[in-house]
Amino acid sequence: MISLHGLTKVFPGGVRALDDLDLEIGDGEFFALLGPSGCGKTTLLRTIAGLETPTSGTVAIGGTDVTNAPPGRRDVAMVFQDYALFPHMDVVDNIAYPLRIKKVPRAERRAKAAETAARLSLSELLDRRPGQLSGGQQQRVALARAVACRPKVFLFDEPLSNLDARLRLEARTFLKRLQRELGVTTVFVTHDQGEALALADRIAVMSGGRLAQVGTPAEVFQRPADLFVASFIGSTPMNLLPGRVVDGGLHVAGATLPVPAGLADGDEITYGVRPEYTDLSTTPRPDAFPGHVVVLENLGTAHLVTVENGDTIVQAVVPEGSEPEPGAAVWAVPRQDRALVYRDGTLLPSD
Ligand code: ATP
Repeated sequence: MISLHGLTKVFPGGVRALDDLDLEIGDGEFFALLGPSGCGKTTLLRTIAGLETPTSGTVAIGGTDVTNAPPGRRDVAMVFQDYALFPHMDVVDNIAYPLRIKKVPRAERRAKAAETAARLSLSELLDRRPGQLSGGQQQRVALARAVACRPKVFLFDEPLSNLDARLRLEARTFLKRLQRELGVTTVFVTHDQGEALALADRIAVMSGGRLAQVGTPAEVFQRPADLFVASFIGSTPMNLLPGRVVDGGLHVAGATLPVPAGLADGDEITYGVRPEYTDLSTTPRPDAFPGHVVVLENLGTAHLVTVENGDTIVQAVVPEGSEPEPGAAVWAVPRQDRALVYRDGTLLPSD
């Protein structure tokens, strides 16, 4: 549905916001662009929308090259972070606005707007103005406006960022359901990895105008392709520890572990294991990282335990009721079937 080839955007002043990027997004896909501030997410979305012209490369939508087509010719609907509603128009006119631009007759566009509003539980609010709506309601109006014109593609720039934490979770479920019902190809930008993991069919993790990894939420979470993605994805950061192969054993932070295929004596690696896949033992074992409990954080149904040993810090998530005392000596045991090994910053293939 969306094909990007060799896409590069250099802004005046020399900032390379997109750097020779190739990406294919499938028909009906819910696709997230995820990455830290300044990595180029918004620029990529705006380039698909036609609000930015690439310095080089091509954009095709539905098999048609639209690299030089204006936004109005691309059959896309974009919802911005601030919703960009018209303050002087009521809800129904805001929703119907794109249909007015398309010269749909008034009665028909009001009927369509009312029907879309009903779908988004906005029927009671049709004659209010944006200033008389809550943030969540404004967001639904902005979505309704995008939905009403039945585009080929939805583009959302941080659509949930103005909502408080609770409303954001509700809106997230709602957005996913709406996208599934409508089946419209959707690209959305977020810097919130939890949101990307929860909503998207596939995620592109961006860094410095490039795609660090493109994959399903499971692939990106379970097998981050490089150390950047490994440290970026996950609600608690992955434990990333330096290791070295010595005398046929992999030595990492006081533990001796089996040597992964493809490594030999003298090789240096980074060993990655998520706190969720790290257990705690109160008795010594050779395949575990020894240390003392320095911090306990209550996560509700589990505890995040921080274990320190000199300069080494390891975190483990343990079920409620099984957390150790602060100061206790413990051994943090990595689940080896979940551990990842990075050499020169890149994930080693698993055997
Ligand atoms: P954020 O999450 O903070 O919105 P982002 O990943 O969406 O960030 P972009 O807005 O795409 O990042 O910006 C990418 C880079 O391009 C940044 O370094 C930014 O400063 C630069 N940039 C964006 N727009 C312009 C512009 N109009 N002129 C010059 N530089 C720009």
